[in-house]
Amino acid sequence: MKTLMQNLLKLQTLEFGEITKPRITAAAVAELRGKIPPPILAHYDRLRARGKKGLAAVNNQVCSSCHMQLTLGVVMTLKHAQNVQLCQNCGRYLYLPEEAAATPPPSAAKPAPAKRRKPTAPKG
Ligand SMILES: [Zn+2]
Repeated sequence: MKTLMQNLLKLQTLEFGEITKPRITAAAVAELRGKIPPPILAHYDRLRARGKKGLAAVNNQVCSSCHMQLTLGVVMTLKHAQNVQLCQNCGRYLYLPEEAAATPPPSAAKPAPAKRRKPTAPKG
């Protein structure tokens, strides 16, 4: 999922950015579009057709596009890159900027718990 959002973000950067090398950009756009699932691309294109960006960064649990507070559930899903999330207010795809997503979850590599000894019954 993370790769998907990265591809989508790259695509948006290319399509909304200043195109300095049209031939290279067209090739890169075609390549990225090939990697993004059609339903996601379709939604992105609908927004783009209206001159809107398809993606919005999440800053401090707030959509950077419409400044709506997002639920913790949405942010957590993004953090764990489990699924794509849409802003319920403006309909853009949400993504966490690199700095926020860079920190790995603390429970990533926990060592296996040591075997517990059987409780010894006191002998009387
Ligand atoms: Zn929004």
